[in-house]
Amino acid sequence: MTYETVRESDPAVADALEDERTRQNETLAMIASENHVSEAVMEAQSSELTNKYAEGYPGERYYGGCEYADEVEEIAIDRAKELWGADHVNVQPHSGSQANMGVYLAMLEPGDKILSLDLTHGGHLSHGHPANFAGQVYEVEQYEVDDETGYIDYEQLRETAAEFEPDIIVSGYSAYPREIEWETIQDAADAVDAYHLADIAHITGLVAAGVHSSPVGIADFVTGSTHKTIRAGRGGIIMCDEEYADDIDAAVFPGSQGGPLMHNVAGKAVGFGEALAPEFEQYAQQTVDNARALGDRLQEHGLDLVSDGTDNHLVLIDLRPSHPDTTGKDVEAALEEAGIVLNANTVPGETRSAFNPSGIRAGTPGLTTRGFDEAACEEIADLIYEIVDAPHDDSVIAEVSDRVDELTDEYPLYD
Ligand SMILES: *Cc1c(COP(=O)(O)O)cnc(C)c1O
Repeated sequence: MTYETVRESDPAVADALEDERTRQNETLAMIASENHVSEAVMEAQSSELTNKYAEGYPGERYYGGCEYADEVEEIAIDRAKELWGADHVNVQPHSGSQANMGVYLAMLEPGDKILSLDLTHGGHLSHGHPANFAGQVYEVEQYEVDDETGYIDYEQLRETAAEFEPDIIVSGYSAYPREIEWETIQDAADAVDAYHLADIAHITGLVAAGVHSSPVGIADFVTGSTHKTIRAGRGGIIMCDEEYADDIDAAVFPGSQGGPLMHNVAGKAVGFGEALAPEFEQYAQQTVDNARALGDRLQEHGLDLVSDGTDNHLVLIDLRPSHPDTTGKDVEAALEEAGIVLNANTVPGETRSAFNPSGIRAGTPGLTTRGFDEAACEEIADLIYEIVDAPHDDSVIAEVSDRVDELTDEYPLYD
């Protein structure tokens, strides 16, 4: 894509867009929730559908002229059903948070109870944090990961559920490197007659490709984002059994959204189509293999990984045991200067603050899209280690930066 037309009318925005493309090309995106979509997805997202109001659902719209919007949305729905095997799919949520809002609105009354993982243990704002509407509208209790093992403390989850008697239990996380035991959480929900929402935002692509177990058919509701491990552009999605279909659809529109972002629904359709091709399974497997290679090498350098490793696309490094005086923000800033972009993250048993935490989270979805294999990820681990060990040493940062330049040239992204 070129920004020639934008440039003619609006050089300031064109400059920023071009700078952003250069930034993505010349740095390594290791934020675990980010990825790079294809040019085809971007083209679909910038189509004339951005002009179209299509309130309602295919075949039952509140506006005329929706025949092509219907086609696009039906393609997205059919492909999503094939990817995840769900009975019913709503592809309209504007984001993963909106998808969760749709489920809460459909199934809960204000004041009802949500049981979810603590944010500092890997949960998400939309699971009931006080700063999010979910924490303000509903009563929230939280479960945790075991401080020692870093794994979900399923026993504590069960006990908390028995005491708290939630209306819904939320599983699925933002910074959790391990497989999730969907059945165990479903049993805990059944024991207290609660719904179970599995939010697979981070692992949507891994689940679609079968490299992470699926909660579809186990949990009552499955929500996801469409821009993380699946490369379908910004957005959210809700999956459920037919019995909840009408309630879910009504909660998304008119319950919590107006017209769907049809250009993004087109992006989802194209991205889902790409994910149905056999190469996507290889991509997802490589993403997981890469995270393992990255984690193993970081451990060889003596760094501490929460849960002692990873089963998915991310690793969570606890800096305290190896580098007690270095904070996540120190490392995040030095890495960014060297061209490796990731984020500081809280770790279980956090002793600093959410703003300047003790960990860093690193993901492989973006690197894998660029073509990185295990050997390349081991080298990235070496570079990360050099920075962790000397975050304030300009000569180390310059050295790593030179190597990042070579790697981004070797694994090009957008023309
Ligand atoms: C990323 C994420 C979401 C969705 O976030 P949006 O930015 O609203 O798309 C929801 N749940 C979890 C667990 C996430 O990690």
